[in-house]
Amino acid sequence: MQKGNIGVTTENIFPVIKKFLYSDHEIFLREIISNAVDATQKLKTLQERGEYSGELGDLTVRVSLDPKKKTLTVSDRGIGMTAEEIDKYINQIAFSGATDFLEKFKDNANAIIGHFGLGFYSSFMVSKKVEIISLSYKEGSQAVKWSCDGTPEFKMEESNKADRGTDIVMHIDDEFKDYLEKYKIEELLKKYCRFLPVKIAFGKKTEWKDGKEKETDEDNIINSLEPIWRSKPADLKDEDYKKFYRELYPGYDEPLFWIHLNVDYPFNLTGVLYFPKIKNDLDLRRNKIQLYCNQVFVTDSVENIVPDFLTLLHGVIDSPDIPLNVSRSYLQSDSNVKKISKYIMKKVSDRLESIFKEDRKAYEDKWDDLKLFIHYGLLSEPDFWDKGSKVTLLKDSEGKYYTLEEYKSLIKDNQTDKDGNLVYLYSNDAVGQYTYIQKAKDHGYSVLLMDGQLDTALVGMLEQKLSDGSKEHSRFSRVDSDTISRLIQKKDDAQEVMDVEESANLSSAFKSQMPAIEKSEFHVEVQPMGADEQPAVITQSEYMRRMKEMSKLQAGMSFYGEMPDMYSFVLNSDHPVVSKLNAELKEQTAEQLKPVEAELKGLRARQAALKDERDKEKGHDASTDTPSTEGYDVKKDLEQTESDIKAQEDKKQEILANFAKGEEKVRHLIDLALLQNGLLKGKDLTDFVKRAVSLL
Ligand code: ADP
Repeated sequence: MQKGNIGVTTENIFPVIKKFLYSDHEIFLREIISNAVDATQKLKTLQERGEYSGELGDLTVRVSLDPKKKTLTVSDRGIGMTAEEIDKYINQIAFSGATDFLEKFKDNANAIIGHFGLGFYSSFMVSKKVEIISLSYKEGSQAVKWSCDGTPEFKMEESNKADRGTDIVMHIDDEFKDYLEKYKIEELLKKYCRFLPVKIAFGKKTEWKDGKEKETDEDNIINSLEPIWRSKPADLKDEDYKKFYRELYPGYDEPLFWIHLNVDYPFNLTGVLYFPKIKNDLDLRRNKIQLYCNQVFVTDSVENIVPDFLTLLHGVIDSPDIPLNVSRSYLQSDSNVKKISKYIMKKVSDRLESIFKEDRKAYEDKWDDLKLFIHYGLLSEPDFWDKGSKVTLLKDSEGKYYTLEEYKSLIKDNQTDKDGNLVYLYSNDAVGQYTYIQKAKDHGYSVLLMDGQLDTALVGMLEQKLSDGSKEHSRFSRVDSDTISRLIQKKDDAQEVMDVEESANLSSAFKSQMPAIEKSEFHVEVQPMGADEQPAVITQSEYMRRMKEMSKLQAGMSFYGEMPDMYSFVLNSDHPVVSKLNAELKEQTAEQLKPVEAELKGLRARQAALKDERDKEKGHDASTDTPSTEGYDVKKDLEQTESDIKAQEDKKQEILANFAKGEEKVRHLIDLALLQNGLLKGKDLTDFVKRAVSLL
């Protein structure tokens, strides 16, 4: 029997391994099984090359638990190791400054394992003792047993193992007794080993018999799934891709489409990416692209390796060229990784383009599910615009799809305003904005439906991109952001505008009856909109609304978020109901208003004169504020006059409000407009219905 010290410079590497690799200790199983698979494949290669002529037999790697002995064992029938080989590969983990190194990489177990061939030693993260029992494939070899209990001392002795290959027996620490649970090991095997190229068996399949779970003779194979990304695309049918998807992501709808990645120069990368059908945001966060290295699962955080917006895809990427063993920040600057990311984006864009070109109908059918990915790409990845914008569709309110180019030609003639702006009208709520959409259509305008999660942000981007380097400026306006004649202003036509004084009175009368709606403010105005238009509409300024919407998506804009919703209530002076109301208002308030107006007129004249006087005085002697005439104070007089004006205006307000209050039509017009915007609720709505019935 041989005894010795493992060749590490530090006093005792195992406590260090345990401590620093703490967060990721489950990967020990992946490491041990990878070694078993490597040893098996080496044997196959030797046989192919004629360097081994013995039997291969069943090469299944077997994982087994012994709860009594508290061991977890991984057995292979690969090349095995002789005593010299164990000495060379296991005993002499020769690197200097192990502690420094571990300190540096303490947050990233992957970095240290593998990088420095610590794969086997990761078993000490969870074991108090590990044994290697091995018989080399070489003729006449003596089986050996190596064991180590976590101190730098090991023992090596002869063993009577009869079958070729290696058993790694891990005596699991009490602290990690989870790894003696069947479900836990099964979970880890499924996670890390389901695509390994050599069969992995974990115990036997079970079946239910007479209400009891019984073992069968059949091996419970973990990796029965074919890693289709390793096959040639030409050998695969649609159904193969779909089947693979179902197995990877059970319970999901069929993917929209997929992309088979297959490069070997300048880096090696294979994989299949799927565009999933996302039903809710939970879906977005739950399943991710899985990264493999030679069919061994590494991680499902692929940030940096694929562009951000493609992290929403599903599927598998496999590459031995992605440096898995280094820190994340290094990954970002690694030129290979950058190339990989660019390559993946190019492949995805090309595929989208070809699907679009080959079968536009199918592409359109999928667009509503697909647009989230494309929009996200356009918004987050500057390099995606060139290709992405070509496969971006706009959908109109009738469900027809257009490319950006096509849509531009469609609206160019009819939707260019007097200043040469191309106006894209859109709605984000086909039902809620029905009347506005209808109105726009009546004018021969096309209305886009933009109700996606990212549309608010996209509208801003499209305005900029479509205007860049183009003759005309492009502007997006929501159908309810203005009255129809002002949405796309065609010419400065002189319309018959109501007298300023009259329109101010009418506005005041209506304003007095506007209901108080939480976080909403109304500005009332009168406008000639044409006799066949509605008597009153409510619009919401595009700019303010968009700022508020953006504030929800972006930090640092909460200022806008807290502002009330600003609406314009616009009365159509061309509508007979409104002009009739205006006439009644004039008639019924004339007598009362007359003295008030006269008083106001006098007061305003006085106010103007006093202001003049004050300004003159200031010019004379800017340094002093003393009254010019003895006992007379201009400033005071002005203040008094202004307060008198205020009092008269209040009086006027009251007269107008009184008229409005007594006039059912005023409230009715207001409510009708509110109703169209979904703003009429609760008691106000009930009152409206009652009033409507009584008017019948
Ligand atoms: P790495 O696998 O990165 O080389 P390890 O510490 O995991 O580092 O293993 C060191 C070496 O021990 C391997 O390269 C291999 O030669 C040998 N080895 C480990 N496990 C086995 C096994 N199950 N069968 C044969 N050789 C093995």
